Amino acid sequence: MIAPRRGPLVLMYHGVGRRSAEEDFFNLFVSPDRLRRQLTALLRRGWTPLTLDAYLHRTVPRRSVLLTFDDGYQAMVDEGLPVLRELKVPATVFVLSGLLGGRSRWMAEMPDEPLVDAEGVAALARAGLDVECHGWDHSGLAAADPTTLSRNVEDAARALRDLTGRRPRAFAYPYGEHDARARRAVAEAGFEVAFSTHHGGGRYAVPRVDVNSTDTDTTFRIKTLRSYPAMRRITGRVPALRPALHAMIGRAERN
Ligand SMILES: [Zn+2]
Repeated sequence: MIAPRRGPLVLMYHGVGRRSAEEDFFNLFVSPDRLRRQLTALLRRGWTPLTLDAYLHRTVPRRSVLLTFDDGYQAMVDEGLPVLRELKVPATVFVLSGLLGGRSRWMAEMPDEPLVDAEGVAALARAGLDVECHGWDHSGLAAADPTTLSRNVEDAARALRDLTGRRPRAFAYPYGEHDARARRAVAEAGFEVAFSTHHGGGRYAVPRVDVNSTDTDTTFRIKTLRSYPAMRRITGRVPALRPALHAMIGRAERN
């Protein structure tokens, strides 16, 4: 028996923007319209979106959700932020301290995307979003050498603090990759929480639920269920189940 999710739902988005399948090989970009639709559905069903502070330090309602956006694409400022402001929904954005103003060159399969610069970070923070740490340069941190680890954890945290005037409190592992040394480095650098992707456990590897451009209204709703992580693990063990499930509930068209 796999236990259902405990604690708030943590959704993991990446980019917000309209992209073609060629521009977005990994289905990372959700269009602003779809984001609006998903957040409106959450609010209508009684979900409370949390600030990072509420997530970390307050007693929160049962249906609470932390919205996270990885990588810090410039499109987050241009296309994501207007939707969040319109709906007055807080969110946490994970940026790469060493690539501010750079491009997402870690994905060879798709054209790289511009990343926020210092002004973009300031714009997100001014809008009330929590700007937190995704490392230095998107290096995977499982089995990382000590130099890579300290640059992506300590140096990345320090650079972000110098920029925002506030120590980052949350870390998101690039690719969701972590091991005991990476988790220890993150804890020792003073982070209060760290997020993985699907797998994890404990304060320094909190699993998240991925939302991407293939999600329909139905799959999005299924992903908010407490039983979803367990369902995902079961379909992962029986590979034939997942395509069958997708055939049943559909796959979104890009809009
Ligand atoms: Zn990332």
